Amino acid sequence: MIRELVTQACQILAFTGQGDALLGHVSHRVAGEETFWMKAAGCGLEEVSPGKVLHMHIDGSILDGHQRCHSEWPIHSEIYRVRTDINAIVHTHALHACVFSALAYPLHPLSYEGALFAPDNVVRFDSTADLIASVQQGREVASVLSSKSAMLLRNHGLVTVGPTIEEACMLAIHLEKACQMQLMILRTGLPYTALEAQEIQKKRAMYTQNHLAKALWAYYKRKVLGNSGTPGEEKGQ
Ligand SMILES: [Zn+2]
Repeated sequence: MIRELVTQACQILAFTGQGDALLGHVSHRVAGEETFWMKAAGCGLEEVSPGKVLHMHIDGSILDGHQRCHSEWPIHSEIYRVRTDINAIVHTHALHACVFSALAYPLHPLSYEGALFAPDNVVRFDSTADLIASVQQGREVASVLSSKSAMLLRNHGLVTVGPTIEEACMLAIHLEKACQMQLMILRTGLPYTALEAQEIQKKRAMYTQNHLAKALWAYYKRKVLGNSGTPGEEKGQ
């Protein structure tokens, strides 16, 4: 079941344009466990199937699966170590998030997507633009993320986390769109307005109360998979 969920998240992210050839990955764990399931290296997000999801220990060893793991596995292991409240992590090199991450400029709440992050729920990881390929770097990422749900990695991409894979996946989609919208507005060079604090709270409450992450996940699942449910190896996905 978890392998299927990771597969679905990868395909939804690819469908929404977050693929970067072979880069980007998603993981999911059972709450409280020291293992997690993570997309394997060597395939694009849209090429993932349950057989291309590795079962890994947080020490980096592969417990089940024959493919290589992504070198950035420490993003996942080190966040899981310190965040007992979350069970899913997304890291992609989504284009607009990459561009926006190169600007030393705060994300503003311009829409409901932006309201989920700005001004207090997104942080910026500045110390390197390299791949997060060591445990030490993974610890730094986890430390900067702290208790937040989203992060922009400078000149690199995004990280989102959530208690469920639906939430982590939808946050990645929302963050990419929030970055895209702000880049579009900045390009106009014209004055603009951002949401006020009260409007932000209202939009966040609406998002939570209406279980929008779950509803949007179901929507994207229909778009990507039709009504057939879970993708499988036999379908060549
Ligand atoms: Zn990366």
